[in-house]
Amino acid sequence: MLNVPSQAFPAPGSQQRAASGGRSKVPLKQGRSLMDWIRLTKSGKDLTGLKGRLIEVTEEELTKHNKKDDCWVCIRGLVYNVSPYMEYHPGGEDELMRAAGSDGTDLFDQVHRWVNYESMLKECLVGRMAVKPVAVAKENHAKKLLNGILLKSRVPDLPAKEIPPSYDWFQTESLVTIVIYTKQKDMDSESVIIDCQDGCFRAEIIIKNYSYLLHTELSHEIQEDIAVRVAEKTGKIEIVLKKKDNVSWTYLGHPLENHNSFTAHRETGLYYRKCQLISKVDVTHDTKLYCLMLPPGTHLQVPIGQHVYLKQTVAGTEIVKPYTPVLETLHSYIQETLHSHNKYIYVMIKIYHTGVFTPNFDCLQIGDYVSLSSPEGNFKRSQLQELEELFLLAAGTGFTPMVKILAYALTNITSLRKVKLMFFNKTEGDILWRNQLEQLADKERRFEVEFILSNPTCEWTGKQGKISLPLLSEFVKRNLEDSRILICICGPAPFTEQGIRLLKDLNFSQEEVHSFTAY
Ligand code: FAD
Ligand code: NAD
Repeated sequence: MLNVPSQAFPAPGSQQRAASGGRSKVPLKQGRSLMDWIRLTKSGKDLTGLKGRLIEVTEEELTKHNKKDDCWVCIRGLVYNVSPYMEYHPGGEDELMRAAGSDGTDLFDQVHRWVNYESMLKECLVGRMAVKPVAVAKENHAKKLLNGILLKSRVPDLPAKEIPPSYDWFQTESLVTIVIYTKQKDMDSESVIIDCQDGCFRAEIIIKNYSYLLHTELSHEIQEDIAVRVAEKTGKIEIVLKKKDNVSWTYLGHPLENHNSFTAHRETGLYYRKCQLISKVDVTHDTKLYCLMLPPGTHLQVPIGQHVYLKQTVAGTEIVKPYTPVLETLHSYIQETLHSHNKYIYVMIKIYHTGVFTPNFDCLQIGDYVSLSSPEGNFKRSQLQELEELFLLAAGTGFTPMVKILAYALTNITSLRKVKLMFFNKTEGDILWRNQLEQLADKERRFEVEFILSNPTCEWTGKQGKISLPLLSEFVKRNLEDSRILICICGPAPFTEQGIRLLKDLNFSQEEVHSFTAY
């Protein structure tokens, strides 16, 4: 609802949109970009109408402010005057008005819970709700000792079949092992995200649409390296910590916020850790491959088809944008996918000189830090199981999710007979990893790549144009009538939307098409 959902990307009036001829669903007026909003918030203008005073807002008062020019919205107990933001909202004024004079928390979480509204709207803060409109279960922050007894987790309303996990811990002279019993099949190390820093231990276990969290201030110091073992059949997870001093621990630690809780994933806030920029390498004239190093106490693997959010402060406002990690190179895919306990995350990012996030990101020097979230996304590896044919339709940086999917499929899916990538770009100079793709096609008989340019020079002898029925019907063809196929599509929103429509016209079922969209 707030900030810059990438649905509206390329932004109205941007060069990309003008060049692509895409139609904007919610056109923003000139001078109403995110950067313009940041400028307005820094101008010292009174955006709440309360001259900087913070008030307690009753429900009755909140409901009165329900018009465009007087619109208050409550998010997680805080009330904002969003009227000044109306014209800047990329999702449009009507979308914002859906929450006018009411609690917009659910609506906000449904659309984009990752957006950093606190920072974006801090100058619009009216105050706090006098009576909270939603009852939020508050964690008891009393410092209890965790003594190794199986603790019952704080459980929200769960569907009957979701059993909350439990945990236990034991120690040897030099190690402490935390054991989590998820009682779930098919758990793997991608489901375990650990951050251990400055004595705080945080482990998030992703179980279907839920998150189980252990969060504690450890009673003793540990070394940086952490080992994770997952028994896939029983769902038992072991996290092994190395003691700094070989002394006996009488308790594991003090519970911190939301310790031992099991919550619907979409209700948990995004957790960020600071990663160091290790290298940046040119991919094309405007796109680079950045290598980010996870902190030593972090265990995090980005599952294929999923993205992370990068966060940095631009002109005093926190800006968050999603990016889909890739591999270091296509050649290294076999080693990378097999040795997935990697400390490095590679992101391939196109720099838009007039954009908000990317020019700032590109200014980072080697050794600088950027905040990186835990992974998100709805692509499931199981979608590739027993697949016979895989079609990848990518446009521009929409290539990024295809990188790991392509590598994984070629390496792990034994039933796979064919992978075809149809890669749409404006010019030859825009094609990402062209050499690598051509080399892979030469080496790997199951893989084929076709480049289609929307703005080629007269020397280009390959395919031209944008996504269209003739192009797709020629390219996306089943080899056998009943072969198991998947078509992945990603690129600018109009490209993806049009592609989905065309594939439907070509009689591919919904299950056979996976589109990567903003949410
Ligand atoms: P923006 O500020 O969004 O601007 C982009 C362009 O629009 C600029 O040319 C700017 O001048 C113009 N513009 C902005 N506002 C206006 C306005 N009001 N009027 C006119 N013009 C305007 N990108 C990658 O490069 N790599 C990835 O791996 C990647 N993964 C993604 C994964 C997901 C799930 C999604 C949704 C997007 C992904 N993106 C990726 C896109 C990325 O999130 C950003 O949208 C992109 O980097 C642009 O960010 P920016 O803030 O620099 O540009
Ligand atoms: P671009 O402007 O360079 O365009 C690349 C190609 O996309 C064009 O050559 C054209 O063939 C096609 N295209 C562009 N506009 C079109 C339109 N209106 N109709 C039909 N086809 C069109 O692309 P870019 O600057 O690299 O942008 C890539 C986009 O992919 C961004 O919008 C980004 O947010 C999105 N993306 C999404 C994800 C995700 O997971 N959801 C991941 C990466 C990138």
